[in-house]
Amino acid sequence: MSSDNPLLKNINTLKGVGPKMSEHLSKLGLYQIQDLLFHLPLRYQDRTRIYAISSVEQGQEVLIEGTVDHCSILFKQRRMMICQLSDNSGTTITLRFFHFSNAQQKNLSKGTLVRCFGEIRQGHHSLEIVHPEYKIITEHSPLELTDRLTPTYPSTKGLQQKTLHRLTAEAIKHIEQLEETFPDSLRQKYKLMTLAEALITLHQPTPESSVEQLLNTNHPAQQRLIFEELIAHHLSLRKFREYSRQIKGVQLSGNDNLTNRLLASLPFTLTHAQQRVIKEIKQDMQQSYPMGRLVQGDVGSGKTLVAASAALTAIETGYQVALMVPTEILAEQHFKSFTEWFEPLKLRVTLLSGKQKVALRRDNIENIALGLSKIVIGTHALFQDAVTFQKLGLLIIDEQHRFGVHQRLALREKGKQGDCYPHQLVMTATPIPRTLAMTAYADMDYSVIDELPSGRKPINTVVLPNTRREAIIERINAVCLQGAQAYWVCTLIEESEALQCQDAEETLALLTKNLPELQVGLVHGRMSAVEKDAAMHTFKSANTHLLVATTVIEVGVDVPNASLMIIENAERLGLAQLHQLRGRVGRGTASSHCLLMYQAPLSEIAHKRLDALRNSNDGFEISRIDLEIRGPGDVFGTRQTGELQFRIADLLRDQELLLTIQEAAEVIIKKYPEKIEPLIDRWIRTDEDYVHA
Ligand code: ADP
Ligand code: MG
Repeated sequence: MSSDNPLLKNINTLKGVGPKMSEHLSKLGLYQIQDLLFHLPLRYQDRTRIYAISSVEQGQEVLIEGTVDHCSILFKQRRMMICQLSDNSGTTITLRFFHFSNAQQKNLSKGTLVRCFGEIRQGHHSLEIVHPEYKIITEHSPLELTDRLTPTYPSTKGLQQKTLHRLTAEAIKHIEQLEETFPDSLRQKYKLMTLAEALITLHQPTPESSVEQLLNTNHPAQQRLIFEELIAHHLSLRKFREYSRQIKGVQLSGNDNLTNRLLASLPFTLTHAQQRVIKEIKQDMQQSYPMGRLVQGDVGSGKTLVAASAALTAIETGYQVALMVPTEILAEQHFKSFTEWFEPLKLRVTLLSGKQKVALRRDNIENIALGLSKIVIGTHALFQDAVTFQKLGLLIIDEQHRFGVHQRLALREKGKQGDCYPHQLVMTATPIPRTLAMTAYADMDYSVIDELPSGRKPINTVVLPNTRREAIIERINAVCLQGAQAYWVCTLIEESEALQCQDAEETLALLTKNLPELQVGLVHGRMSAVEKDAAMHTFKSANTHLLVATTVIEVGVDVPNASLMIIENAERLGLAQLHQLRGRVGRGTASSHCLLMYQAPLSEIAHKRLDALRNSNDGFEISRIDLEIRGPGDVFGTRQTGELQFRIADLLRDQELLLTIQEAAEVIIKKYPEKIEPLIDRWIRTDEDYVHA
C-alpha cells in the first residue's frame, strides 16, 4: 500500500479537526483517518417508526406519539415537570423534565398531540422518559419519519454525534483504499461480504438495510466484522501462546512433601476435581516454559486450596509465590487462610497492602527482597516498583474477571528474573464454556473444577417484594438467635460510592434498631482497611450475627457459618453478580437461604431473570439463561463480559461462531501467514488502552 494512502493520514488533516478535537478523538483511540472506519456504531437509533406505548420496554430508545393527559409541576427533592402521555394502545407513559420553561409547560397542555424520542426507563409508577426530545404535532406540521437508522457511536465528553457522523463520512470517501483483510477463498467459503461493503453498511445503513437485523446485530455486514474481529483476537492470543512456549520458565518439580502435610492437616479430603486440576498444574510447572493456566470453578468449589497446593510446589523448589486479588477484603481473608495453613509448615506468609504503616510495609518489602517471605498476598500494590522478589516462581491471580491478556503479560514481565519468567495461574468463578475459553483465552491452558465439595446443600433462593421487609427482619432474628449468621447486602446503584456507603449505614441503623437482640456489623468500601478487617474478623469469628455490606463482599469472601443472605433491589443487579454474591452462603454444611428482594413492579424480563436464580445454583446454567433472556438484541451489551474488549463481537452472543473461527484461523496460519499481522494491527488495541481495566 502506498504511503500516500489518505486513510493513513493523521486525523487532524480532516477539515474542522483542531487540537481540541484531536484530543477528544485520541481518547477514543482515533488517530488515523482509517481508525474512523473501525470506530463502529454502538447501536442504532430507530426513528423509522412509531412504537405503541404498550409495546415499549425499559432500555429501548424509541419514538412514541400520544396525547397529553395531564401536565404539572412537582416539588420533590427537585422542582420538576411531569407530563402524562397516552396513546390508543391504552397505556400511559411519564415524561419527566428537570429543566423547562414556562412556555414548555403551556405548550404541553392537556390534549396536545406530541411525538417524542428517548430512552425508556422504569419509573416509580410507570415507564418514563427523562428529558425526551419532543415535538408538538399540529395539522400543519406533519412530521416525517426518517427512512434509515441513525448510528450512535461510542463518544466522549465534548464530542458530538453529528461530528462523528461527519468525520466518518469523510473517511468513507476513501474506502476504496482500504486493504481487504481476508483472502477471497476464505470470504467465499464463509460467505462473507467485502470489508468495504460491510463498513459502509454499518456507518451509513441504506433504506434497504434490514432495521431488524442491524438492531439485533445479525446483519451480514455485522457478521462479517464480528468474524474478522474474533479471528484477529484468536490470532493475537495464539501468537502470545506461541511466544510463551519459546521463553524460559523455571522448572518447578517439588516432592509434594509440603502439600501432603497441608492436606493431612485439613478436616476434609480434596474433591476429585481439585485433585485433577492440581495434577494438571503440577505438570505445567515442570515444563521449561512458563505455565499460563486458567482455572474455572464455580463459587465455593475450593479454588483457594488448589492455589495453595500450587504455591507449595513452587516453595518446595525454593521459589517465592505472589497471590494477587482484586480487593483488600479478599487479600486479608487469604492472608488469614494461608497463615493458618502455612505457619505450621514454618513458611512465612506476607500481606502487602497499600494502607499499611510505613515501618511494617518496609519490613515486608525487605522480607520479600531477601526471600524470607515465601508467599506474598496483595492487590495491585504487589507490583509496585518498590517490591522486588528474590526468586519469584509463581504468580497466582485470583478472581480478576476483567483482567486482560496485556495485564497478564505486563505482570509476567515484571516477574522476570534473568531470562526466566514466573508461571501464571489465573483463577475465576466466571463460567466460561469450553469453546469460548479456547478463543477468549487462547493464550492459556484451561482447567475446570467441575465438582463442589460433598455435603454442600443447594442454596434455597426466594424472591420477595421489599414490602415484606418486616417479615424478613423477623426471620433473621429467629435464625440468628439459633446460631446462624446472615449477610444483608445493600445494592444502591449510584455513581457515587459515598451514596452507596451512606445507604449501607442507614440500613445498619435501621436493622440495629429493629434487631435489639442481635449484634449487627457493617462493611463497605469507604471504611479504612483496619475497620474493614475488624468487621470481617468479628463476623468470621461469629461475634456478629448479621453483617450489613455493600457489594464489596461480592468476590471471594468465605465465612462458612453464614447461611442466610438478603439482597436488596436484586432486580437491578446482573445475574452473574447475583450468583457471585449468593455464593457467599452455602459454603458450610447447613442449609442456606438467599432472599432476593425487589422493588415492585417487576418487569417481565426482571421476573424471568430472578426466576433463573431461584431455579438454579449452577453458574454455567445461569449464564446460559441470562444470554437467552437478554437475547441477541441486548441493548445493554455484554461486550464487557469476560476479559477481552471487543468493538463489535460479543463472546457470549457469538458463541456458535467460535468453532468456525478456530477453523478459519488455522487456514490463515497455514496458508496466509502474511495476513496475520495486518489483522491483528487492525483490530487489537495496544497496551495503553488496557491500563484502566
Ligand atoms: P472458591 O472456589 O469460591 O474460591 P474457596 O476456596 O473459598 O472457594 O472454598 C470454599 C470453602 O470450601 C472454604 O471454606 C474451603 O475451606 C472449603 N473447601 C475447599 N475444598 C474443600 C473440600 N474438598 N471439602 C470440603 N470443603 C472444602
Ligand atoms: Mg475464591
